[in-house]
Amino acid sequence: MRIAPDELPERARAVLPGGNTRSTVFVPPHPPYAVAGEGCVVTDAQGHRVYDCNNNYTSLLHGHARREIVEVATETLARGSAFGLPTESEIELAELLRDRTGLTRWRFCNSGTEAVMMAVRVARAVTERSRIIRFEASYHGTYDGVVAASATGVPGAVEEQSVILPQADGAAFDAAMRQHGHEVAAVLIDLMPNRAGLRPVPRDFVDHVRARTREYGSLLVVDEVITFRLGVGGLRQRYGVAADLTTLGKVIGGGFPVGAVGGSVDVMKAFDPLGDGVVSWGGTFSANPVSMRAGATALRLYGKSEVDRLNALGDRLRQELADSGLPVSGFGSLIRLLVDDPTVTWWALYREGVLAGTNGLLALSTAMTDDDVTEIGTRVRAAARAST
Ligand code: PMP
Repeated sequence: MRIAPDELPERARAVLPGGNTRSTVFVPPHPPYAVAGEGCVVTDAQGHRVYDCNNNYTSLLHGHARREIVEVATETLARGSAFGLPTESEIELAELLRDRTGLTRWRFCNSGTEAVMMAVRVARAVTERSRIIRFEASYHGTYDGVVAASATGVPGAVEEQSVILPQADGAAFDAAMRQHGHEVAAVLIDLMPNRAGLRPVPRDFVDHVRARTREYGSLLVVDEVITFRLGVGGLRQRYGVAADLTTLGKVIGGGFPVGAVGGSVDVMKAFDPLGDGVVSWGGTFSANPVSMRAGATALRLYGKSEVDRLNALGDRLRQELADSGLPVSGFGSLIRLLVDDPTVTWWALYREGVLAGTNGLLALSTAMTDDDVTEIGTRVRAAARAST
């Protein structure tokens, strides 16, 4: 059934401010509405079919409705979607994450934002300090404590707890540590920050941050909410850098809401209800078995060979786009088109049949074949010609 083109946006504007309930999916005048997804293709309310290179902002490793995930989710759902008791599913996902990352203790929540909130809370509890160092233009979710400086609605007193430094600037980092190091609970870093341009942070800078945080007794929190898909144990594993805490989300829920914090026994023991200095953290839907089991299934289907295949597809596409003169960045299965006017480009891509992120982010899925990726490249080039 086709829906009249303007019916949904009009209904939306009558009940949602500006018709929107999720800032990240807004494109003016209003975005198209999704109706269904199958593999790497999404169909919208007007029957337009697009290659999904957004994958719900990088979270769908296997595209839409992957058979094994649909089966495990429906089977789990049929036995109850949430309980006021733990289930085996949370142990199973934590075991998988431990085996992939080497981090030995885990705690689940419902989003990447919550994972970052938890990591910051536990870092502050463990160090008994309050300041956080983070980097310009890196996005860590919508929690007050980590949003952009001077974000409307965030109290000055919260902002003062953050020291925001230029990306990968060793001298600025050292100066900040000299001044504030003794009061810094954690340094929060994304190894390839999307909003800052999706460029991998230089390894020597990351090693430097690791050494300095140890020196000053601050914790290193590596935010892998987006970058976890880039390696079996995330991008951090490729860097070979040890984290005191890591935050995950997106791909580890198999398409369902999820977040997680992982860390060493020593740090994570702050969450132990039988221990001292307990950090109490609830979450009605945290570790619900549908997210846990769908996530575990998605990860099992994403072993080393699939990680490598997907990254190789991304590397090929990035190279082909670069060879055509397009400014691109990223690593492996994550690509960013560095465009001047993201809205114009987003619509040009969409008309050519490619769904991207609103800032030009392209995330591949295992549902894509070599031929799909070749076709996506052709369409991206056509869109680039159309939008200039
Ligand atoms: N950290 C990073 C690096 C992110 O990219 C995001 C979201 N894109 C978040 C945290 C927040 O995750 P969520 O949207 O699930 O709250």
